[in-house]
Amino acid sequence: AHQAALAARSADNLRSPICCILGHVDTGKTKLLDKIRQTNVQEGEAGGITQQIGATYFPVEAIKQKTQVVNRDGKFEFKVPGLLIIDTPGHESFSNLRSRGSSLCNIAILVVDIMHGLEPQTLESMRLLRERKTPFIVALNKIDRLYGWKKIENNGFQESLALQNKAVQNEFKNRLEQTKLAFAEQGFNSELFYQNKSMAKYVSLVPTSAHTGEGIPDMLKLIIQLTQERMVGSLMYLSEVQATVLEVKAIEGFGMTIDVILTNGILREGDRIILCGTEGVIKTNIRALLTPAPLRELRLKSQYVHNKEVKAALGVKISAPGLEGAIAGSRLLVVGPDDDEDDLEDEVEADLASLFSRVEKSGRGVSVQASTLGSLEALLDFLKDCKIPVANVGIGPVYKRDVMQCGIMLEKAPDYAVMLCFDVKVDKEAQEYADQQGVKIFTADIIYHLFDSFTKHMDELLEKKKEESKLLAVFPCVLAPVAVFNKSGPIVIGVDVVEGQLKINTPISAVRQNPVTGAKEVVDLGRVTSIERDHKQIPVCKKGQPSVAIKIEMGGNQPTYGRHLEEKDMLYSKISRASINCLKEFYRKDVTNDEWQLIIKLKPMFDIA
Ligand code: GDP
Repeated sequence: AHQAALAARSADNLRSPICCILGHVDTGKTKLLDKIRQTNVQEGEAGGITQQIGATYFPVEAIKQKTQVVNRDGKFEFKVPGLLIIDTPGHESFSNLRSRGSSLCNIAILVVDIMHGLEPQTLESMRLLRERKTPFIVALNKIDRLYGWKKIENNGFQESLALQNKAVQNEFKNRLEQTKLAFAEQGFNSELFYQNKSMAKYVSLVPTSAHTGEGIPDMLKLIIQLTQERMVGSLMYLSEVQATVLEVKAIEGFGMTIDVILTNGILREGDRIILCGTEGVIKTNIRALLTPAPLRELRLKSQYVHNKEVKAALGVKISAPGLEGAIAGSRLLVVGPDDDEDDLEDEVEADLASLFSRVEKSGRGVSVQASTLGSLEALLDFLKDCKIPVANVGIGPVYKRDVMQCGIMLEKAPDYAVMLCFDVKVDKEAQEYADQQGVKIFTADIIYHLFDSFTKHMDELLEKKKEESKLLAVFPCVLAPVAVFNKSGPIVIGVDVVEGQLKINTPISAVRQNPVTGAKEVVDLGRVTSIERDHKQIPVCKKGQPSVAIKIEMGGNQPTYGRHLEEKDMLYSKISRASINCLKEFYRKDVTNDEWQLIIKLKPMFDIA
């Protein structure tokens, strides 16, 4: 009896692991979740699966039942009391994965469409899982789409595969190999789950179908197996409260509420709580702890049940005064009888400060805005890797004041008058103001798309500057005249390019000695407006190419051959400090080594230091 009591107590003290589902859009995340939740009608309610706030709870009895087909001998033992699966598939949940360094989720299911392989969001999810050291399995979903697949509803995968014809089995093998290769390219070793000898070294791939339910028993069993193997230590029930804000929502009759995942401890009505808000730390008291009313009680007035207290792990909605501006992804702390409220406030404040302090000291950089603390952190990490400087950070929708903040950059560093926004809405007035001011706003649901937008923006700016600098850029050249066709207004002459390259628009000068004083004299002739060979216009003539006829024009009074200069005078591209800088900035690639040497030779002629 004593033994039994002990066992009961320790089982009581293991909490349920928390699981996230993530992956590219349309891979079947929602459908998979629906399929697991589905109650088997013939067997009545499947052992108390409960819909929670932002999550679904599966008691171990329900999981045992759902994994029966792959555990017929009952040899697989279940040690956890249940499994909490976060409901919002996609970026919302994974960007909340981390609350201050530790992962909100103990384990993840990465869904991959077996027909499509790894897609952009799959890669992004993998990056986050790796960073956060979250163990995961891969559901290779939509196996029913393999051509000729014969289904057996809710079957174990191995048995189903054995029943397929050779062609289907071969197609499966091919796609499996392709997937393993793609994972290897990302630095992950993977293995079909029943061939995986080490869950620590290899990621398990479980083929599934959210339509037929095949492979789902395997997937559930694997998730439990992985948590039991890899994290028994971290699943001990703690009395200390650990909770993360998943979403912030206004609800009729309750005002602003927060949906919270309670990973450890107990929350009680009236508890004093502390969390991050956009206008600083929020301190308030829990007015109501709400969970959804069971389906059969929906005829009751409210869709929520009020709880005196709730115990981890679960999802719960908290109603309290002053929750406006609460930040999703924020930790939620409870002030216990022995706690100093100020200490806890500092702790929560530090979460925000650590992110907000990651801005450029120089104050020159882009502005970033993200939906949650977790996604902001992920975005900042990413931009740091890309060497994109950040000057301002924000959380939540983009409002006019955020654009104004970013607009300061229009003066300081116009290239950075850019807002990179991840998974947030842009207020209409803010967008209008941005358009008016010339602040660029880029939004995306995939972090690295923001990098692409920013890079494209920078390339466009460079193109524009190149275009604007066309008249300023002077490629160096030396011309030897061979004939004068028109002495002035405009000058038309035949020349050989003896050094460098002659381009349209190049300003041309002769550098002579004054016949009387002997002093150096620069005679500016104007700009080259046409280059012709064999009666054809060409944009450029390079050193050593056959002679060309060129036209040189000038706005005012143009010097005249025979009076201000002579036919034998060599001609030079008129360079300046500004023109050299322009070449260095925009055309470095287009100027050869010989030409840089030529520039150095020409500098003294035009008195450039
Ligand atoms: P999510 O964006 O990842 O949540 O994807 P959904 O669950 O909304 O599924 C996207 C589409 O794929 C829907 O049309 C689903 O019916 C379909 N789908 C999802 N899972 C499967 C599957 O296992 N087999 C087949 N044939 N279609 C699926």
